[in-house]
Amino acid sequence: MNVPSANPNPLDLSGLHPDTVAVAAGRPHAAGQPVNTPMIPVSNYDSGAGPEYARGDGTDGWRALEDAIGALEGGKALAFSSGMAAISALFDQLPSGAKIVIPDDCYQGTATVAADGAERLGWRVMRLPTADTDRWVQAAAGADFIWMETPSNPLLEIGNIAEVSAAAERAGAVVAVDNTVATPLLQRPLELGATYSVHSATKFIGGHSDLLAGLVVCADRKAGWDGFANLTRRRTYGGATPGTLESFLALRGLRTLSIRLERAQANAMELAERLEAHRLVTKVRYPGLASHPDHDLARETLDGPGAMLSFELVGSAVSTDVRLSKLHLIHRATSLGAVETCIERRNKLAGQEHIPPTLCRLSVGIEHVDDLWADLVQAIDGLVD
Ligand SMILES: *Cc1c(COP(=O)(O)O)cnc(C)c1O
Repeated sequence: MNVPSANPNPLDLSGLHPDTVAVAAGRPHAAGQPVNTPMIPVSNYDSGAGPEYARGDGTDGWRALEDAIGALEGGKALAFSSGMAAISALFDQLPSGAKIVIPDDCYQGTATVAADGAERLGWRVMRLPTADTDRWVQAAAGADFIWMETPSNPLLEIGNIAEVSAAAERAGAVVAVDNTVATPLLQRPLELGATYSVHSATKFIGGHSDLLAGLVVCADRKAGWDGFANLTRRRTYGGATPGTLESFLALRGLRTLSIRLERAQANAMELAERLEAHRLVTKVRYPGLASHPDHDLARETLDGPGAMLSFELVGSAVSTDVRLSKLHLIHRATSLGAVETCIERRNKLAGQEHIPPTLCRLSVGIEHVDDLWADLVQAIDGLVD
């Protein structure tokens, strides 16, 4: 192997725009080295000089992904085999009887982890509406762990991370934010005072529906609490380590996140406006619309309204399903954050009974907006109620 030469022009990421950090971080940056961290499938190392075994000691591939996301969000990142593996590792740290706050409009996997803990370990789980900041601030006083998800999914409600984190800090509670929907380019929870930011890299970071991966970024804000060490231990002994190919693809996805997001957001804004004006659409939820109840807070906390929107149609669940069945281009599929546009009527899923029956969640991709609109309109107009 070549001995890497010292880089005569070391890169200082501080002060660079997030769009640039997403491209530049997590690269070798040394003379004679490849510009990409190579994909080296490995479990075992020759012993005596550092890493011994990949499950505990990691691989260059994960570390490159962790370095890049950590640099973007201003903390130390740990990669996992999926978003749920990352979320489970965080919740696994909570003791019996822990007092936990989660949103009403919570990712169903996370709500299930909390409900299981309530049953097995006596966790006391309070659920609050994402946008009701006063109630979150009040609840922080008696809580151990606060889980925020903003923008929420599929209701696109906006939570106030800064205010809730300040209240939590006063009370000695830990705040974690599921940042999957916003992405590290639109929102950086640690800068707003949260202790942890969590991603399903399966979604926007990967961006191509071809991998499962997750990340936790740690700020280690609470005195006497080494979240990074605790989580590393969880990953080592829980074994939810990211794959070699998945780490490579997630980092490759991150390189283009800013331009994918730019197009997807522009499409989402245009579709939200057109849908709002459509006679068969009764409601559109998108933080970029002036009609959104948290439009101002969204402008304050987010660097853009994102690529997710929801709309409700006249009629019933059944007529909505018939309409969606007429789509050609847009995938009827559950995941989000990819280059291809996906739609789902959310209320049909277990645990989503609180969602209005005709609500369709649209994860907007990077296709031409007029093709997306034409497909939506022919499907919506294709059924006479
Ligand atoms: C998909 C998703 C998760 C879970 O991530 P996986 O990678 O599927 O395990 C968690 N939170 C949100 C908001 C998600 O969309």
